[in-house]
Amino acid sequence: MALNTGRQPFEANIRHLVAILRDTTKPHRASEAAAYTQRLYDLTIKSARPEKVACAKGCYYCCHTFVTVVPAEVFRVARVLQKRGPAVKQYIDETHAKTSSIAQTEKWRALVPCPLLESEACSVHDVRPLTCRGCVSTSAEICYRVYMDGKEEVPPAPLEYHSVTTAAAATLSAALRLVGLPDRTLDWNGALAAAMASQDSEDRWLSGEDIFEGVTQGVGTEPGTPFDNLVRELVQNVAPTI
Ligand code: SF4
Ligand code: SF4
Repeated sequence: MALNTGRQPFEANIRHLVAILRDTTKPHRASEAAAYTQRLYDLTIKSARPEKVACAKGCYYCCHTFVTVVPAEVFRVARVLQKRGPAVKQYIDETHAKTSSIAQTEKWRALVPCPLLESEACSVHDVRPLTCRGCVSTSAEICYRVYMDGKEEVPPAPLEYHSVTTAAAATLSAALRLVGLPDRTLDWNGALAAAMASQDSEDRWLSGEDIFEGVTQGVGTEPGTPFDNLVRELVQNVAPTI
């Protein structure tokens, strides 16, 4: 059920995510919840029919900025990466070391590419996080000026992408909060490095270990922000119904 048709779909999707996350027979239920939410995002964007964007394979300038993720999303990507051998983990660690001391909002000026950018394309395109799905623009030229030249402009983008990304991320965050799992959003490079540190990171996180301790919080989701207020409201509305 797409997210752009009112409050009911929000709440029904949160209940479905809660059911996934409570099913302890599924060892990768966090990854599964992320996959469900990302499919929901794709479905909602498709049904919203936004204006055409300039994004295409081989256009990669935006992969030089910060990315904020809901924790469950990191495990979905880590599961794919763990099959690719140790070099990926080493590159993620090196990238994290280069960017960890840079403030999240300044990362776009540092010109450090995402460690998952390969040959000018996203190497995890099918499982990329919500923020990456929602990072679009109608002008690759303006993106180049912003992400590669550090110009203070805002790439133009149809409004639907931002609102659907927020809705989907809040849906997943609310479900995590309702089952007692941490929903604090995370800086991408730090979260990836933490999730790749061991093969059983998802297991350990689901068992209550704070494997993301010390990872910087994602931008724009701090207490009191509209995002946080939306998550609180969703949690409040859904809690009596689960
Ligand atoms: S957001 Fe900009 S840089 Fe990224 S793929 Fe789209 S047009 Fe290219
Ligand atoms: S995960 Fe993929 S889309 Fe997102 S920043 Fe990295 S390379 Fe770009």
